[in-house]
Amino acid sequence: MDQHLSNIRDEVFRRNPGEAEFHQAVTEVFDSLAPVTKKHPEYAEAAILSRMCEPERQIIFRVPWTDDQGRVQINRGFRVEFNSALGPYKGGLRFHPSVYLGIIKFLGFEQIFKNSLTGMPIGGGKGGSDFDPRGKSDAEVMRFCQSFMTELYRHIGEYTDVPAGDIGVGGREIGYLFGQYKRITNRYESGVLTGKGVTWGGSLVRPEATGYGAVLFAREMLKTRGASFEGQRVVVSGSGNVAINAIAKAQSLGAHVVAASDSSGYIVDEAGVDVDLLREIKEVERGRISEYAERRGSAVSYVAGGNVWDVDCTVALPSATQNELDDVAAKRLVERGLLAVAEGANMPTTAAATAIFQDAGVLFGPGKAANAGGVATSALEMQQNASRDSWSFEYTEQRLTDIMVGIHDRCARTAEEYGLPGNYVAGANIAGFVKVADAMLAQGLI
Ligand code: GLU
Repeated sequence: MDQHLSNIRDEVFRRNPGEAEFHQAVTEVFDSLAPVTKKHPEYAEAAILSRMCEPERQIIFRVPWTDDQGRVQINRGFRVEFNSALGPYKGGLRFHPSVYLGIIKFLGFEQIFKNSLTGMPIGGGKGGSDFDPRGKSDAEVMRFCQSFMTELYRHIGEYTDVPAGDIGVGGREIGYLFGQYKRITNRYESGVLTGKGVTWGGSLVRPEATGYGAVLFAREMLKTRGASFEGQRVVVSGSGNVAINAIAKAQSLGAHVVAASDSSGYIVDEAGVDVDLLREIKEVERGRISEYAERRGSAVSYVAGGNVWDVDCTVALPSATQNELDDVAAKRLVERGLLAVAEGANMPTTAAATAIFQDAGVLFGPGKAANAGGVATSALEMQQNASRDSWSFEYTEQRLTDIMVGIHDRCARTAEEYGLPGNYVAGANIAGFVKVADAMLAQGLI
């Protein structure tokens, strides 16, 4: 990073104290931008970078609700509307006890570049709450979602800001949120949220899209080395929506997926993960991954409290959460023959681990490229809503495939153009950035 960039970064740190994840995300992008700012002095003149790091709008609100015992509970709600140069703010809502402003800002910042890379007309935003859906009844989750939307509704809209899911927010939560939005506004405004059920404005393939997309991105990376998923030994971390659909897609391409995890431990199933059983336990019963081992019997091991990155693999698909894969794990995986990493989660690989992968020549697909299939399919849902249409699974999946191939090629071409062939991190950051920067320049000082 040159002096000009590090001065701006220091100023961002100073203005946003104590937001470690946001600082990390900013640094990660700035580390790629020196060749761009050199080539485009007009960006510095218009203070594009300083403007990009300051969200257009940040909303923090109280979310009061009552639990099943009738006690009043208070959570904090967030929506950070980061950048609307390319379209309405777009990005998920995360409900998790770790959520605070720094997490939402890191996610919102990443979302700007990810959304730009998809080639679709969507800006960047993110929201959520420190509410923990785990262990809550459906009725509690509904009351929470209704209270959350009772404030959020005034800030969103199909032309303004379009939330979706993220960790802790799936089809159930989107349903409750949409119902409350409709009730408050008396409008059936389908395009205000994505990730809806297919019978009421949702898109086929949206639930699968992030996991499928990450595998498609990895497939394209492998192709550049004359390889494929056939026979690869794959480890997927997590066992939520992204992980489960990544496992299914990797298996359909001939991979051998041997491990998955949740926050309490991981399982190793050398016979290949039974994705239907995993889906049943995690999505239907909302249970723990330890139950997978209990039901599959002695052939499967469960390691309580363990790190899934202790399991050898040739392809790693980190799909749990930020900073889950560190430098110690990265070093070990490289020594054990790792070929490729595609991030299904947002920023799951630490900066030190990313550097180890890149130095070792491991194919590394950063989340803002590799997991963009989710938000891209949200944009396809918005298209269907705007035209009051609904597309077939096959057609929508083909669109997703084309988009992922397009993102891969855009990253690869941009990296090449800037003299960094095979560096998908630089390619994603530069390609994502330039499009937003040019739009901001064209729209004047806003
Ligand atoms: N939360 C997802 C992401 O990180 C999807 C967002 C969306 O569909 O708007 O990109």
